[in-house]
Amino acid sequence: ALEVRNLHKRFGDLEVLKGVDLVAHDGAVISILGSSGSGKSTLLRCINLLENPNEGQIIVAGEEMKLKPGRDGALVSADNKQINRLRARVGFVFQSFNLWPHMSILDNIIEAPRRVLGQPKADAIAAAELFLEKVGIADKRHSFPAQLSGGQQQRAAIARTLAMQPRVILFDEPTSALDPEMVQEVLSVIRALADEGRTMLLVTHEMGFARQVSSEVVFLHKGQVEEIGTPEQVFEHSKSERCRQFMSSHK
Ligand code: ATP
Ligand code: MG
Repeated sequence: ALEVRNLHKRFGDLEVLKGVDLVAHDGAVISILGSSGSGKSTLLRCINLLENPNEGQIIVAGEEMKLKPGRDGALVSADNKQINRLRARVGFVFQSFNLWPHMSILDNIIEAPRRVLGQPKADAIAAAELFLEKVGIADKRHSFPAQLSGGQQQRAAIARTLAMQPRVILFDEPTSALDPEMVQEVLSVIRALADEGRTMLLVTHEMGFARQVSSEVVFLHKGQVEEIGTPEQVFEHSKSERCRQFMSSHK
């Protein structure tokens, strides 16, 4: 499980997260919706400490992150080993894939398992082949990222995340940089991960998809959880007028 308690984040005078609480139980698929600037990316980035929150707690697999005030007043990790453990447990799939351009797809996937988890090369390769199979690009293992379509690159990025055996996967708009014809192939990979019981947090503008795969939907507004519930509750019976407006303008 992943727990976020009372998370606050400021950039200078701008308070972007204003006390966010969120629990993703094992197997939960939580979609995070909200207008541009509502703090969705900042929330995901704070969870694996790509951004340092100003206040709050992050608890992954029962282990609370030890945080201490840093130079700019934000909380930084007090324990380097722990932050490596966090990043191994919480995988991040970015909008822009972020594959290493000078490495083959296979090398992209085995790099972190070898360096961070210390997997022997043969084991890392064997595992990588399975994940490439799973995302449907086994034939691209010796290609370089630039030789792949956007959808294939994003699937490679998902395989790379899976190779770290994360407990939780965070997706930040994984399809929004893709041409429309490639969106479905990536969504179907994410759907398969949901079906096998992966714990995931998904920021997306694909409303229909969010509705189908999520166990829970969160509507974020100006850095606060404005509405949270089952897809049916949030999409059909939202108590919040803002949330209803957002849903109807994104149909
Ligand atoms: P979008 O749907 O456009 O991706 P979002 O909900 O992901 O939006 P965030 O990227 O979390 O929004 O940004 C929330 C607010 O924080 C915005 O006002 C943004 O300008 C601001 N912000 C984000 N990152 C930084 C940063 N590194 N420095 C200063 N301000 C930032
Ligand atoms: Mg964003």
